[in-house]
Amino acid sequence: MKSAKLIDLKVQIVDAKKPSLQGRGAIIKVLGCGLCGSDIVKIKHATKENEAKVILGHEVVGEIVEINSDTDFKVGEIVALGHHYPCFSCDYCRIGAYSMCKTFKNSNISPCGFSEFIRVDENHLKYTVFPVPKDMDYAQIAFLEPLACVVRAIRRAGYELDKDNSKSNSLVLGLGSIGLITAEALKAFGVRTFGFDINTQREEFAKKFGVTYKKDSYDTIFMTSGSSKAIPTALEHVRDGGKIIVFSSVENDDGYRNNDLYYREISVIPSYSPSPEDYKISYELLVENKVNTKDVSTIYTLDNLPSAIEDNICGKIFKAYIKI
Ligand SMILES: [Zn+2]
Ligand SMILES: [Zn+2]
Repeated sequence: MKSAKLIDLKVQIVDAKKPSLQGRGAIIKVLGCGLCGSDIVKIKHATKENEAKVILGHEVVGEIVEINSDTDFKVGEIVALGHHYPCFSCDYCRIGAYSMCKTFKNSNISPCGFSEFIRVDENHLKYTVFPVPKDMDYAQIAFLEPLACVVRAIRRAGYELDKDNSKSNSLVLGLGSIGLITAEALKAFGVRTFGFDINTQREEFAKKFGVTYKKDSYDTIFMTSGSSKAIPTALEHVRDGGKIIVFSSVENDDGYRNNDLYYREISVIPSYSPSPEDYKISYELLVENKVNTKDVSTIYTLDNLPSAIEDNICGKIFKAYIKI
C-alpha cells in the first residue's frame, strides 16, 4: 500500500506493508485525511535523528474493513477519527491536563493518516472514533480533531455550550483555517465573535463566515497566529482582567512580560490538543451543522501531498484535505 514518510527530511510517498490487526482494534481504509498545521511544524522541525518517528496525518476519514472490538462499530462503517487518548488515571489526567498524559503522547494511529490503511486500537474506538452520518461531506467531518482542539481552547477560556455566553465578546487573532473554525465554534457557543488578520485576503475570506474586525476591548482573545508579533496586538485588545488563550506555537518567541500581565490582571491560558469530551462536543457541532467548515479545505490526492504541504507553507491555501 501507499504511505507518506519523511525521508531525508522530505515527504515522500513510499510502498509500505498493510498494517494487520493485533489484539483489539480495527483496520481502517483511509478515504481522506486533513493536513494539520502541526504536521507542517513536525516537517519543519524534524531532524535526521527523529525523522523515522515523525507520524504525519491524524485527521482521518475512513471505512472500517476489519474489526475486533467491544464497541458497536462494524465493518463497512464510515468513521472520522483523531489520534491521541489519555489514560484517565495519572496525575496529569487527575488535574485535567489530558494532553500532558504519557498515554496521550504515546498513543497514535499506525502507520500514519496519509496511508491507504491504518490500524487503530480499542481505546481509539472508545474515545476518538465517531460514525460519519450518511451524506456528510468527508472534507468537513475531517475537521473532527482540529475542531476538538478548538473546543478545548474555548472551554479553557471558561465558556460552556449549555451556558449563556451572549454577553461575552471575543477576538480571534489569525484567520487561517484554525482561526476560522475557532470563530465559527465561538459563535456556536453563543459568544459575540470578531477576528483579525494582518493578511487582508484572509480577512476578506473570513467575512463570508460573518467574521469581521472591530476595535474594542475583549473578554477573551484567541491566539491562533503563528507569529509572536500578534502578542502586542493581543495585549492591546484584551480587556483588563481578560484572558488570552494561547492556541499556537510561534516562531521567534518573545513571550508575555510579567508586568504587562500583573498590573492588568490578564490571564494567559494555553490550550494544547483535545480530550475525549472535546471530541464529543466537536462531533455534535459538526453533525448538527453548527460549525461551518465549507470551502475551507482544498482537495489534493495522496500523490500530491508534497505540493499540498508546499501550498500550505506559502499561504496559497487555508487547509488541505488529502483524498486517499
Ligand atoms: Zn490536527
Ligand atoms: Zn493520564
